[in-house]
Amino acid sequence: MRSFLYKFAMFMQGRYKMDQLNFALISISLALSIINVFPRNIIIYLFELLFLALFAFRFLSKNIYKRGAENRKFLAVWEKTRDFFILHKNKIKEFKTHVYIKCPYCKAQLRVKRINGKHKVRCPRCGESFEKKIHFGVKNK
Ligand SMILES: [Zn+2]
Repeated sequence: MRSFLYKFAMFMQGRYKMDQLNFALISISLALSIINVFPRNIIIYLFELLFLALFAFRFLSKNIYKRGAENRKFLAVWEKTRDFFILHKNKIKEFKTHVYIKCPYCKAQLRVKRINGKHKVRCPRCGESFEKKIHFGVKNK
């Protein structure tokens, strides 16, 4: 038993093992296998194997540098996607009270109170000012 563990440790030495991208790959593979318990769809099954194979390949890979670069790319896309959903969730949640507008100079998303009329907005990121007309807001009293 001890020699087996030793051999296994030797085998695993210098290999890439786990990161966030691998966690995502194994989770997707697992989720697909759960979804596919009853339909037993061959295409879902092939995707399940594909994600599992990608996971195994990356887990056992000795090219640490390349796998790290892949993970960084994955995290960048993941964060962008997450931010997109958070923004849209907030837009829906605050629809009655706030509007989200884009700064025409630096493209930053700005959150302003939904009050009818023309407003002068100063972007806190780039400092530029611009005018913005808001319709369908609460009446200014
Ligand atoms: Zn700006």
